[in-house]
Parts: sequence; structure tokens; C-alpha cells
Amino acid sequence: MMLQKARYLRDLAEQYDLHGLYFQHVALCRRRAWLHLAGATHAVRNSRVQRGLALHQTEKRPGEVPKGLGIAPDAIDFERRVVIERKGTARAADAVSRQALFYAAFMTGATGEPWSAEVQVYGSRNTMTYHVTEEVLDQLIRDAIDSSELAADVAPAAKRIRLCNTCSCRLICWEEE
Ligand code: SF4
Repeated sequence: MMLQKARYLRDLAEQYDLHGLYFQHVALCRRRAWLHLAGATHAVRNSRVQRGLALHQTEKRPGEVPKGLGIAPDAIDFERRVVIERKGTARAADAVSRQALFYAAFMTGATGEPWSAEVQVYGSRNTMTYHVTEEVLDQLIRDAIDSSELAADVAPAAKRIRLCNTCSCRLICWEEE
């Protein structure tokens, strides 16, 4: 059943052209997920994302991701069957875990073997490990199916949440500030 669900999720991701970040965004804010689907999140303009990109380019760690895999985690360990996401901070752990778990579920569906996810924080030895469970797959499948309706709808209204202060979309949502 788990494998069937992982394969279904992979099919949905391909059908709707979903990337790992969508699953992170939708766990944080539906408007941000909508903006992501519309290609308007402007993440690379955000200083924290820029810092993460710079760290990713300068920190040499093993686990290069082959091109053409269909997903783009920060690293991958084929021997241990683990996908790895690296972040600049430990914030929004639940949303970040959804992105990493999507990659792990995608690889589970692609290989027929169970994969797990690790989230590492730059400058820290802490590694959080997440496992693909039936519950996780059900949530990711719901989010994937929801993406089609979300993308077809008008943008959800901006709602002030704590994340807004550091969100890469804040200039779109709160132009007047
Ligand atoms: S600024 Fe706030 S409301 Fe706008 S997308 Fe970001 S988190 Fe959502």
C-alpha cells in the first residue's frame, strides 16, 4: 500500500509539475504556495535564501544529485537511501520536513525501496531524520491533488502571519509597508 501511494504521489507530481518547494510552501501559507505555482515567489531575492544558496555552493559535502533524477534535493545518499535537504536555519521544521519527505517518497516510488529524509542545518551538526509513513504519504497526496485547484483559483488573500516578516513574497503581499 505504501509503495502504491508513493508511486501515485510521484505520478501526481509529474502530472502537475510539482517540485519539493511546493510542499514546503503549502505547509506554511496557501498564498505563498499559489505564488510559487504561478512562478512568482522570487525566492532568490530573499536574503536568507541567497545565503542558503551561497552556503550550498561553497560547502563541499558528498552526495551530489545526478541530473535527470526528476527531483532536486541538496544531496542524495544512494547507499543509505536518504535524500538530504540543507537549510540556513532550523526554522519551520515541519514545512521543511514536508519538502524533504516529498523527495524521499518520490525516490521510494521510483525505486520500490523505502527511502528516508534528512534535514541538516548549515553550521550545525544536528541532523533531523524523517521517515515516509502512510500518514505522510496521505498528506503529500492531498497537497498534490489540491495544487490543481489552488493553481486554477484566484490568489488566496494575504493573511498576516509570523512568517510574513521574512517571507520572500512580502513585497508582493504587503506592498504598502
Ligand atoms: S508574505 Fe505572508 S501572506 Fe504573503 S506569501 Fe508570505 S507568508 Fe504568505
